[in-house]
Amino acid sequence: MDLLTLTIGKQKNIALIAHDSKKHELIEWCNTNKEILKCHFLCGTGTTARMITDATGLPVKGYNSGPLGGDQQIGAKIVEGRVDFVIFFSDPLTAQPHDPDVKALLRIAQVYDIPIANNKATADFLITSPLMEQEYEHSVINFRQNIKERAKTL
Ligand code: PGA
Repeated sequence: MDLLTLTIGKQKNIALIAHDSKKHELIEWCNTNKEILKCHFLCGTGTTARMITDATGLPVKGYNSGPLGGDQQIGAKIVEGRVDFVIFFSDPLTAQPHDPDVKALLRIAQVYDIPIANNKATADFLITSPLMEQEYEHSVINFRQNIKERAKTL
């Protein structure tokens, strides 16, 4: 498979998402890690973004609320190379109306080799990684080449 080298910059484009029962845990986590987070570009699903900004003063660009397409917007930004790091405190104990969107976001993060934390411990390990202050090169499928090959062979 033809691969393409992409770079996650020193300043990362971090998406922040929390399901309702996890919002306060994420806000607390953002407060604890405020000094690190303020060195990066932050965005998030609508309600999460608003609550983090209100509680911490960190600028977080808000997309739509998760159940109204916010997770899909963040997935699309990953595809466009505009989000390269995701902190997603999801709730494993409550059924979500937008479960297909959540799964789609996890899948597209995996396809594009994006670091993604779905609980606090993983987020703690990610945010304290020396790679937070470095550029990181990684390989993803060369989709343009892939389309060319597919169009030729199918
Ligand atoms: P919200 O969306 O930040 O707008 O609540 C999060 C989600 O449930 O995916």
